[in-house]
Amino acid sequence: MSVLVTGGTGYIGSHTVVELINKGEDVVILDNLSNSTIEVLDKIKQITGVLPKFYKVDLLDINSLEDIFTQNSIELVIHFAGLKSLTESIGIPLEYYNNNITGTLNLLKTMKKHNCKKIIFSSSASVYGLPKAVPITENFDLHTTNPYATTKLMIEQILNDLYISDNEFSICILRYFNPIGAHESGLIGEIPNGKPNNLLPYIVRVANGQYDCLNVFGNDYKTKDGTGVRDYIHVVDLAIGHIKAMDKVRNDIGVHIYNLGTGKGYSVLDVINTFEKVNNIKIKYKFVQRRPGDIGECYANANKAKEELNWEAKRDLEQMCKDSWNFILKSK
Ligand code: NAD
Ligand code: UDP
Repeated sequence: MSVLVTGGTGYIGSHTVVELINKGEDVVILDNLSNSTIEVLDKIKQITGVLPKFYKVDLLDINSLEDIFTQNSIELVIHFAGLKSLTESIGIPLEYYNNNITGTLNLLKTMKKHNCKKIIFSSSASVYGLPKAVPITENFDLHTTNPYATTKLMIEQILNDLYISDNEFSICILRYFNPIGAHESGLIGEIPNGKPNNLLPYIVRVANGQYDCLNVFGNDYKTKDGTGVRDYIHVVDLAIGHIKAMDKVRNDIGVHIYNLGTGKGYSVLDVINTFEKVNNIKIKYKFVQRRPGDIGECYANANKAKEELNWEAKRDLEQMCKDSWNFILKSK
């Protein structure tokens, strides 16, 4: 039996594939390569010694999905594939709804047809919208402020309804906080499409001279130094979280929801200072206006994942900053 990883050549998917192979799982990857490259497969082979089976398939193409399920015996699906830019989604909402929602519906229909009833889904802390407090627990109110986050919330609802209709399903919804860092080998990591929106991808591009200066969006938040606070989590810790979630879906039917974060909040200045210290590079920055739609503070209460999945993040911010830079150095 195999584990199907949709979006498996992407940033989080590729790190999860490495952990799956290390654990001895048989992996099948599906990706349309809209935001990743085929070279990632070779990097996975360099790290693990195994070249995973790969299908260049779009989730919108339900006939090709059907072929994958016919040709393989899929026990469980880890579903990463989707468009992920919050900012971009505001300009092209229909593309986001079509890709993320229709793609997921096609996947779920095909899974049900082939009696494959175990799924782990990549959700996001963005489903908490503007949280009423921090740290955020899984039972906080859900409301969204952009089409990307709405696709995540809608898919969570679809998965809940699916379980109500068919109690044999076993579903894990993982709400990620802010994944950064890269594999320690420096062979896989995050490659943003165009100018990065996220903090770490921007910092590393200031570090390598691609951009002159980092704009720090706001220094008047009610945080310790006025800059935005987030829960940054090392992508390898996040990947390992999926391995733990697999045990859960293999053993317990139902819908299980977990925050995957470290439970710690770091400000933009904390990240800049840590990056400078561990990599011995100066990052030029200036304070500019708040970014529209941004929230001041967002970090997880990650106790539920610790208690029920026996998972907690191990890698600290220094490691995250070191590995992010190492990936850029190795990619040169
Ligand atoms: P990514 O863009 O690196 O990976 C997603 C992969 O899915 C890409 O390789 C892309 O080519 C593929 N894909 C997109 N649409 C597809 C389709 N219709 N058919 C087949 N393949 C398709 O993104 P990531 O950072 O690895 O994120 C993985 C998942 O985690 C996404 O669902 C994302 O929304 C979610 N997530 C990411 C973050 C983050 O900060 N990176 C935070 C919270 C949640
Ligand atoms: N940020 C910043 N400059 C940038 C990108 C991000 O100051 O070029 C800040 C942003 O305002 C937030 C934090 O860094 O406080 C994390 O932003 P990111 O976009 O990485 O994550 P998100 O806001 O989606 O959680």
